[in-house]
Amino acid sequence: MPTKKNGGKAKSGKKVDPVAEFPNLYMTSSDDDIEAAMSFAEDYKAFIDISKTEREFVKTAKEACESLGFKDISSVNKLKYGDKVYASVKDRGFVCAVIGKKPVTEGFNILGAHIDSPRLDLKPNPVFEDAETVYFKTHYYGGIKKYQWTTIPLALHGTVYTVDGKEIDVCIGEKDTDPVFYITDLLPHLGREQMKKNAEDFIPAEDLNVVIGGIPLKGSDKEKEPYKAAILKYLYNEYGIVEKDFVSGELEIVPAAKARDLGLDRAYIAAYGHDDKCCAYPALMAVLAQDKPERTCVAFLTDKEEIGSYSNSGAQSVIYENFLMELLAKNLGGIDKFNMLTYRKALENTKMLSTDVTTGYDPKYASVFEKNNTAFLSHGLKIEKYTGARGKSGTNEATGEFVAKITKIFKDNSIPWQTGELGKIDAGGGGTISCYMAKMGMDVVDLGIPVWSMHAPIEVISKIDLYFLYLGYKAFVENIG
Ligand code: MN
Ligand code: MN
Repeated sequence: MPTKKNGGKAKSGKKVDPVAEFPNLYMTSSDDDIEAAMSFAEDYKAFIDISKTEREFVKTAKEACESLGFKDISSVNKLKYGDKVYASVKDRGFVCAVIGKKPVTEGFNILGAHIDSPRLDLKPNPVFEDAETVYFKTHYYGGIKKYQWTTIPLALHGTVYTVDGKEIDVCIGEKDTDPVFYITDLLPHLGREQMKKNAEDFIPAEDLNVVIGGIPLKGSDKEKEPYKAAILKYLYNEYGIVEKDFVSGELEIVPAAKARDLGLDRAYIAAYGHDDKCCAYPALMAVLAQDKPERTCVAFLTDKEEIGSYSNSGAQSVIYENFLMELLAKNLGGIDKFNMLTYRKALENTKMLSTDVTTGYDPKYASVFEKNNTAFLSHGLKIEKYTGARGKSGTNEATGEFVAKITKIFKDNSIPWQTGELGKIDAGGGGTISCYMAKMGMDVVDLGIPVWSMHAPIEVISKIDLYFLYLGYKAFVENIG
């Protein structure tokens, strides 16, 4: 689902002086730019509605690539200027590239996002019955406020691999005619003690049990758990899944909601998983928009960022590097041409944006923000020179020279930007994939857009930010070097 071609420049052509001001873009943008932002948002919403999980995102991204003539890199022996290739990273991550005019040995221009989002995963043995109701036990994934996941309609997405070699895709709760799932909460009438507890404690993790059924299997007197038996029977009849198959399943509970316009003026989008799909989508589209780039442009769509970028599909996996190695070797004429030092030197000359979201200033929670160093919704892309927490611990700090190259590109292409930190210094903190990329030697900086209610079941972004983010990513891969 490639996006519409775009000239790569803000239509207004208005020169925003980023040093002097960080204006609200709905105030300063032309009607044409606002219209383009509204239209870009439609494409985005349609894409993320069918790409809620990392595996679904990979599928959609692969289809978009193939529709534009990208080939699986394993099917190609040599890569030349203009060639387009992709690779799946265990079907939970994805990489694609367009080969540049300059040899790959001179480095890559990379946009790297993550496509996993906070959610509730099913435990390996999830089905149980209690008080005539059947539930899934869950294990939350990523940093969530647990109470936010109660009393909202939930959907089940994922894939189950059975012992007899079948791969079964599951997606229940998204169609209007589908049933949904639900986590109960206590009524306020009896909630006196509960309401005194800390928010962290009043919904314990082991209470995030999802209601999945309540009609018993009749006619079997010996059945100890007739409600559970009925659900297991249903799962077997509908999907061919038996209870032990859950161990080889990757099933995720996500909000059963489509991306929606927010506000009478439709300034914002409320949706599940903006972190980090609102960066992953424009990053992917910016690479897909390339035809004959100067330098080789690459998109990394990584998994497991929300839990530390581990696993073979997380940003710490060598598979992402393997793809870069393969690009270099095949551009040199074949995998036998690979040389480690040439590769490492190419990495030193590589420029990357770690395309991840940041938080948006929220006046209700003003106490955690330092107003001069925070991002505002609708004020454009945020350059975050470093992330981390408490004294820059665990951060990747980009070099000033690299940041200046980016701000020059943004100035030349009328891309509005803002800057700052995540929040007040000792209020908390967070990290992204940038530290793992910097370790390889490349120049990398975090650059995304602000989100309200990050990691909540439904998060909020501004449409005008999303649009300029795409233009900014495009300007970066086309001009950095
Ligand atoms: Mn993120
Ligand atoms: Mn996150």
